[in-house]
Amino acid sequence: MVKNNALPALIPHWTVALQRGSFYLFPGCCLLCGTLSNRPLDLCRECEADLPFNHSACQRCALPLQTLPVSSSVFGFQCGKCLASPPDYTHCIAPLRYEFPVDTLINSFKHRGQFSRGSILAELLLRNIKAQEALPDLIAPVPLHWRRQFVRGFNQAYWLARYIGTRLSIPVDSRLLSRHKHTASQQGLSRKQRLNNLKDAFRLNHDIEGKNIALIDDVVTTGSTMSELSRLLRKAGAHHVEIWCLARTPLDK
Ligand SMILES: [Zn+2]
Ligand SMILES: [Zn+2]
Repeated sequence: MVKNNALPALIPHWTVALQRGSFYLFPGCCLLCGTLSNRPLDLCRECEADLPFNHSACQRCALPLQTLPVSSSVFGFQCGKCLASPPDYTHCIAPLRYEFPVDTLINSFKHRGQFSRGSILAELLLRNIKAQEALPDLIAPVPLHWRRQFVRGFNQAYWLARYIGTRLSIPVDSRLLSRHKHTASQQGLSRKQRLNNLKDAFRLNHDIEGKNIALIDDVVTTGSTMSELSRLLRKAGAHHVEIWCLARTPLDK
């Protein structure tokens, strides 16, 4: 676990300098409304303020909630599912809800390779990660089955892991996990069907005893994949597993 107060020293100065320089040469232009963003992010402040931020959510799995119960302080509230059956990860960072226009941005990034969309969302995720007290030892992207990766051309989770890992100087281990079963979408399946679907789908490829790991993906939908991967990592001796994603799907989606 890396203490986050060491963070500024870890960020390569040349990256910051390059970013500032490129901002003056090519000022940011908002990808949602087309106006100048006037900052080193292709998203203006007005469009950012209108995004569906995931403020009211379970503190463990980040499941978006309509309203938090009056009796619960915002800090520490967990959904019924997490209370009944706590997952093997400590918490999930999901800055946004998977709703318009976040769904459109993610689909453009994931299915059409529009990485400028991915960068905007990764910056918002990065902001929340930096607010943490400590950072993990390594980042592991959720693996895609080779067939899906072949069709898509890239693994969006690996792209995000590289982006965040470079900015925070955390190593990315893309070989730690692999997916050996081509699984259908988990959405709309019962809990039993989801577990069956994921049974023996993943493999751990090397030792991670005592490591603190962040699992990353673009969207967490039902949470089953993250739960299964965390279980696998903790069983193999990982000290701590946390989840990072761009957006979390509300229950009714
Ligand atoms: Zn805008
Ligand atoms: Zn929860």
